[in-house]
Amino acid sequence: MKMRFRCGCGNVFNGTEQTTVCPGCGRPLDLNNCGAIQVYRMGNMVGMAVGMGIYVDEMPFGHLANKESVRLVVPYGTHKLHMTLSTNRNCNDPMITITPEAPVAFCKAHISGGFVAKIVIEPANPQDMPPC
Ligand SMILES: [Zn+2]
Repeated sequence: MKMRFRCGCGNVFNGTEQTTVCPGCGRPLDLNNCGAIQVYRMGNMVGMAVGMGIYVDEMPFGHLANKESVRLVVPYGTHKLHMTLSTNRNCNDPMITITPEAPVAFCKAHISGGFVAKIVIEPANPQDMPPC
């Protein structure tokens, strides 16, 4: 399972369930009271060579390639998920709530075509998600 972390120092990095320390500053990660948002970028011809930018609560959370999925480790609570594609910041910005009872939220993102493309993030079922 590919997991992505954001340390208090601002470092964003990929890891696994075994990751306990930030490779940037060496501090232990505080993973108590954390869950995850699993995001799957559905395959799409539009902008397929370009990584989508991921933002949680306005903070950068790395990139997502075409057909890639990743688990973003976030604290319990409600978070705004925003994605960009190159200079396109037109996104539906869903609010996603992570709780101890439902610690992982599943979302899929796609680009809705048209004259002005829009990035649409919608809830997904675990069985819709490819392994990551
Ligand atoms: Zn750090």
